[in-house]
Amino acid sequence: MKERIDQMRRRAARYLGVRPVTVAPARGILSLSFDDFPASAWTEAGPILAEHGIRATYYVAGGLCGGENIGKPQFEVEHLQAAHAAGHEVGCHTFDHVSALRLTPEGLTDQLAKNAAWVAEQLDGHVMTSFAWPFGDVALGAKPVIDQRFLLGRGVRDGVNAGRADRVNLQAIGLESRRLPHYDLEALVARTADTSGWLIAYGHDVERDPTPYGCTPEDLDRLIRLAQQAGLDILPVGAAWARLSDANA
Ligand SMILES: [Zn+2]
Repeated sequence: MKERIDQMRRRAARYLGVRPVTVAPARGILSLSFDDFPASAWTEAGPILAEHGIRATYYVAGGLCGGENIGKPQFEVEHLQAAHAAGHEVGCHTFDHVSALRLTPEGLTDQLAKNAAWVAEQLDGHVMTSFAWPFGDVALGAKPVIDQRFLLGRGVRDGVNAGRADRVNLQAIGLESRRLPHYDLEALVARTADTSGWLIAYGHDVERDPTPYGCTPEDLDRLIRLAQQAGLDILPVGAAWARLSDANA
């Protein structure tokens, strides 16, 4: 019953409370993002990103720091600081990694404030400007909170953002072993190039033996190479957003 109600609420949030934005950059963009984040999203993925000379977005939940999630060790402060120092974007999740479906707007505001304060303390006052919905759960009542506080919110609904999109619920494909077999990555990348769209990918752990929510180093490397071959710009979510905003101006 609860799951059915959640499904209905997710559907409502998909169609209602939309903050329309036109996604039409001069050329297609790929953004890579890592949620929570597991330590390997930095220790394994970081060198791959560096090798390609690209930057990604890390959506951090401060409450997971030094802990374990889905059986994987999560980031330590030094990982977060190293990623930030290397020029990667640090974006916001909820502090305790709580779904927006389980929070009142006030509760969500508290979670965001707590995360903002914690991140600012670790990263010399850094202010996070983009948000990723934990579990991809978008709640209608939460959308105005995200709208007010951030430039954008990233969900987990499959697809390429092109033309009209919802600024607080941008689509993203999963760099997840449970979802990757069902994608035609070549086609997604080609469509992003052809439509001058914005393909956002999100993942968690990056390991030889990933969780269903993570991928292997080869999976990550492959998507990067496909995007490069197709001539996509590869930018953190926030930098991509800035480019779209230029195009919209
Ligand atoms: Zn998460």
